[in-house]
Amino acid sequence: MKSTKIVCTLGPASQDADVLDGMIRAGMDVARLNFSHGSHEQHARTYRLVREAAKRCGREVGVLQDLPGPKIRVGFLPAGKLELTTGQEVVIQAGADRAEAGVIPTGFASLAEDVSRDDVLLLDDGLIRLRAKSVAGQQIECVVEAGGTLKDRKGINLPGVVLSIPAVTEQDLVDLDFGAELGVDFVCLSFVRNAAEVQVAKDRLRERRKDTPVIAKIEKPEAVEHLSAILDVADGIMVARGDLGVEMGPEKVPLIQKQAIEQANRNGKLVITATQMLESMVSSTFPTRAEASDVANAVLDQSDAVMLSAETAIGAHPALVVETMARIICEIEDSARYRQHAKLQPLPFEASSNAIARAAAAAGEALSDVKAIVCISTNGITPTLLSDYRPMRPIYALARRLEACHRLAAFWGVHPIHFEPHGSAEEAMVGAEALLVERGIVSKGDRILFTLAVPPGSIVDNNTLKIHRVGEETTKPNTN
Ligand code: PGA
Ligand code: MN
Repeated sequence: MKSTKIVCTLGPASQDADVLDGMIRAGMDVARLNFSHGSHEQHARTYRLVREAAKRCGREVGVLQDLPGPKIRVGFLPAGKLELTTGQEVVIQAGADRAEAGVIPTGFASLAEDVSRDDVLLLDDGLIRLRAKSVAGQQIECVVEAGGTLKDRKGINLPGVVLSIPAVTEQDLVDLDFGAELGVDFVCLSFVRNAAEVQVAKDRLRERRKDTPVIAKIEKPEAVEHLSAILDVADGIMVARGDLGVEMGPEKVPLIQKQAIEQANRNGKLVITATQMLESMVSSTFPTRAEASDVANAVLDQSDAVMLSAETAIGAHPALVVETMARIICEIEDSARYRQHAKLQPLPFEASSNAIARAAAAAGEALSDVKAIVCISTNGITPTLLSDYRPMRPIYALARRLEACHRLAAFWGVHPIHFEPHGSAEEAMVGAEALLVERGIVSKGDRILFTLAVPPGSIVDNNTLKIHRVGEETTKPNTN
């Protein structure tokens, strides 16, 4: 059983019930709906397929909505592609999805206003480089500095150029409302630059009476600069290495990854490491050694989750990729080296839930025979904090709210189970114990740790830690 979680981007290769079952059984914990592509109807259908597959597999799976933000894309090229030779000149037509042959269209209307002479435009993840020579109306005349074959819908990055469009675009807000209605468990924001932009999404969700966690994708130099402030507002971050590498250069990615993961963990926030982790497996049945090392390093860095993009969205072997990733994760987590590095600093929160989480992690180490830590809660706050102590024992998060179960699926070491406690605290523990025994997770005589709220159902999160032996009389309810 792995502790580091796997996020899988869904796409044409993974919209089939059997494929999804295979991916969940192989270790998928969170499904990512990429709103850069596809219609609302398609996303709604995929959403339903994930929920059904999770139910069939008896697993809690989170659904993450990824909003594209101000992602600039090439429009539709007449032949589906355009050959660009180094040294030639080419015109970009802004505010148009189609243009005459030889011109690069982009639907991004304000591009010509934001670009000035000598700015660099990187196309298709930096494979093609253009430099602006002049701007006239909606047309940007460029010279090709590094040529290649440009295809439809490829991304355009402008490193160092300040875009006038907000990070949460009008379309993002429409998509956000749609996702909230659908019931997604996480919202990811692309090209975030500062904390205020994260707050825009959080406020919008609150207006819709939702407390959906918001994850900021760190892929702009401004976001790296403002990471502390972003972490104060966001519920988590994604180290979005694709655009980050284009915007800042690939050589900057490894250390930013390590620092961002560390900072997120120190703040008790979720952190996902993303992009190109097993890229060659889009077609291959085997990862490169460099890719295996990359997944291993992201695990050693203490990511909560690692992510697959094209590998599962359009790849030839979605379930096999997940299985491969899970195998690498398990190999690392089983090592003494990993355990040595897993100790994280106490979280600086003055809250009973944090004190209990810390105490449970400590008790799990002080008592060598503890089999599991079992958190009985409503919203799952204590297990997410406990996750940040990287305890040596598995965390079973028995949450009353189904949404909480789905969210908990993304957190390191947390195994969510939907559970509706009844009666007193004692009865809640008896019920939880029965469920864990029935599922074969623990058996009579095992030592486990309970964290819970006493009295049960109180709005406050966990305030009690109980060291317990399965089958012990003391937790039996008074049946007289
Ligand atoms: P994307 O984000 O796949 O939506 O571009 C991830 C990244 O940029 O790494
Ligand atoms: Mn990106």
